[in-house]
Amino acid sequence: MALLHYVCSVPLVRAVRSRSRTVQLRTVSIHSAARPPQVERVLLGMSEQELQQLALDFSQEAYRGKQLHHLLYKRKVKDIQDFIYLPQAFRNGLQEAGWSVGRSPLYQAVTAADGTIKLLLKLEDNRLVETVGIPVVDEKGSVRLTACVSSQVGCPLRCSFCATGKGGYSRNLQRHEIVEQVLAIEELFKRRVTNVVFMGMGEPMLNLKSVLEAHRCLNKDIQIGQRMITISTVGVPNTIKKLASYKLQSTLAVSLHASNQKLREMIVPSAKSYPLTALMKDCKDYFLETNRRVSFEYTLLAGVNDSVEHAIELAELLHEWGRGHHVNLIPFNPIEDSEYRRPYKKAMLAFAAALESRKITASIRQTRGLDASAACGQLRNEFQRSPLIADSEGQQEEVEVAIAA
Ligand code: SF4
Repeated sequence: MALLHYVCSVPLVRAVRSRSRTVQLRTVSIHSAARPPQVERVLLGMSEQELQQLALDFSQEAYRGKQLHHLLYKRKVKDIQDFIYLPQAFRNGLQEAGWSVGRSPLYQAVTAADGTIKLLLKLEDNRLVETVGIPVVDEKGSVRLTACVSSQVGCPLRCSFCATGKGGYSRNLQRHEIVEQVLAIEELFKRRVTNVVFMGMGEPMLNLKSVLEAHRCLNKDIQIGQRMITISTVGVPNTIKKLASYKLQSTLAVSLHASNQKLREMIVPSAKSYPLTALMKDCKDYFLETNRRVSFEYTLLAGVNDSVEHAIELAELLHEWGRGHHVNLIPFNPIEDSEYRRPYKKAMLAFAAALESRKITASIRQTRGLDASAACGQLRNEFQRSPLIADSEGQQEEVEVAIAA
């Protein structure tokens, strides 16, 4: 779910302040391989057990695998030759066999006035992927740092309000390409990420295998609690059931954006293949299976889905499928060439009040990083304007890239 503006924690008490930066762009062309990179020999994302086995495979003691784990996830070392605890012969052996750490270079970072940093990582095949770090100071003065991570390069679902959807789709991200986004944010902020939301570019349920592998790594290796991780989806048939079978303690956030099927199909074209009744049933079953309540996301689009009548219809829909629901209302974040507008505050408050009066708790998310191309996909679209569709032959293709002057 490319909905960066979803990720602000509620309530937001005080954002960490920093100076806004602007970038000037010039456009160049580069060649880009259409195939995703090979990942069989990437260390990032591997568990301690797998790293121990790897050490044994290289005729090393198993404890070398533990050291590898420490270097990757605690010291966050980016290059095999910098694994100073390891014998030189082991380091050379790994490199000669084609192993790499799996960290991508930072291509661009833009800081918003509220401290949000949006960054682009340049992947091995020259694709750019967007990720965002959002610092928040709570009432007790402690700082939370949320990483909003992408699960795909672009997104094939083309929700009508979404910058990522408009930018096209290239490929799924591999597990290390998801994990490294969190590490890149930690490096930039010089502090630990406390929360992760899969709400960046892409639909996580279309890349569930890598998302689950990255989730394991974030939880077990990087030590981010499962309850601090949110997986968001606009709804992909049969995947909520599959996710439920893993019984994760993480939050599932389902993006509704509409109170009825007809309206939903207009806003979310992929809803045509997943009727609202089937989606709501899967959400109910998810709760029964995991005991974790699904949270619902609703982007408010002025004059489209933001009337009190829509709120009443939404409340009726949610009551039909259970009790104790929570809805996160997200004011639309304007994007280039969009037919949608952001609703006035009065309309948003009236919508929330109509839900609350019907016993649906609702919060209006504060948009973060408006001056850093806050809607997910916006920054990537500024820098990489090709449709990002890899050809089936795996041939080289021209990608137009704008780089900071
Ligand atoms: S097109 Fe839809 S599913 Fe895809 S990233 Fe955007 S909002 Fe999420």
